[in-house]
Amino acid sequence: MKELIDDIIHKGSLSPDKICQLLSATGSEQKELHRAANNVAVTYRGNIVYYRGLIEFSNICIKNCYYCGIRKENKDVVRYDVDEAEILAAARYALKNRFGSVVLQSGERTDTAFVEKINRLITKIKEESNGRLGITLSLGEQTEATYQRWFNSGAHRYLLRIETSDARLYQSLHPDDELHRFSNRLDALNNLKKIGYQTGTGVMIGLPGQTLANLADDLLYIKNTDVDMVGMGPYIEHDNTPLTAQKKHLWPLEVRFNTALNMVAVLRLMMPDINIAAATALQAIDPMGREKALKAGANIIMPNITPTENRKHYLLYDNKPCTDESADDCLSCLNMRISLVGKETGWDEWGDSPHYFKRCEKSPPH
Ligand code: SAM
Ligand code: SF4
Repeated sequence: MKELIDDIIHKGSLSPDKICQLLSATGSEQKELHRAANNVAVTYRGNIVYYRGLIEFSNICIKNCYYCGIRKENKDVVRYDVDEAEILAAARYALKNRFGSVVLQSGERTDTAFVEKINRLITKIKEESNGRLGITLSLGEQTEATYQRWFNSGAHRYLLRIETSDARLYQSLHPDDELHRFSNRLDALNNLKKIGYQTGTGVMIGLPGQTLANLADDLLYIKNTDVDMVGMGPYIEHDNTPLTAQKKHLWPLEVRFNTALNMVAVLRLMMPDINIAAATALQAIDPMGREKALKAGANIIMPNITPTENRKHYLLYDNKPCTDESADDCLSCLNMRISLVGKETGWDEWGDSPHYFKRCEKSPPH
């Protein structure tokens, strides 16, 4: 293990076979891997965790991803769309609690009313906070013009998971139509980088049909795409989705969990200066899941500050944590957890990824 770890730190990458070996680490080898990743994170990003207040402001979605609980065809979902005043109140909460940034996330919509609403929100959050709050968007695939418009209004980071870098696997997870093309996802990521966003992507871990070799390729894809931020977590089934039919082919939850932690650790060794989020889905499997990710190389946490009454309707998967707690409850519990794992919080800081600035020096956005 030590040799592999030294090798990947030294070269920044390894062959897929060797990455697979790292990804399957268990027991004392896994501890060694996580310790090494944490050391790299501390060296390049400090012993600091940055908060991004997550506002899941709407579960209305035009898409039908087979894995997702809020997909359009799930008729059992009570749909909601938080109004602008309430979203602004959540942003004010983030500001007051010195989070540094907010993330606006929702189901995917591309209609004009949606694009305009987001634009107004970005503008108002920037105005009200005197530019203090950083804004990350996670609103799926949009046209280049829309991405540009939101960027011009003040959003500076965008998260768009590729979900899997294997085109065939991607296809098996989505309907075969224009709304769900793998190539659209790739184009969208390129556009985000070109416009100048700090660009984030990520994958789900433990999908039906996914192999360790797929995951090794995912890490190489992420490295080659040269993104600035990554959010990846275990796939967790939702009983009312088409993918649940393949339940019996899934890795046990514990394997998905441990592989997800190892993915975080190996990526940290490959990309020392990016931001890596501790995914909420980890906490659905293990109550200390996100904290374990922080000890394995992650440095970002996204506390949920969605109005409590809406949280139970943003169920991407079963057993989603903290759906019945208020933002205050979540926060006090989280602060305690961060200090329990020996980390500090980067209050009032954007915590931008240094990788982004280096990338822009090498090849400036258009
Ligand atoms: N609609 C936007 C999009 O798809 O990019 C943003 C919101 S979407 C709910 C955010 C992420 O949730 C997706 O990129 C996907 O990786 C994750 N997700 C959806 N269903 C999931 C599941 N069953 N288990 C784990 N993660 C899931
Ligand atoms: Fe919609 Fe995103 Fe869920 Fe796909 S993953 S159904 S785009 S919310």
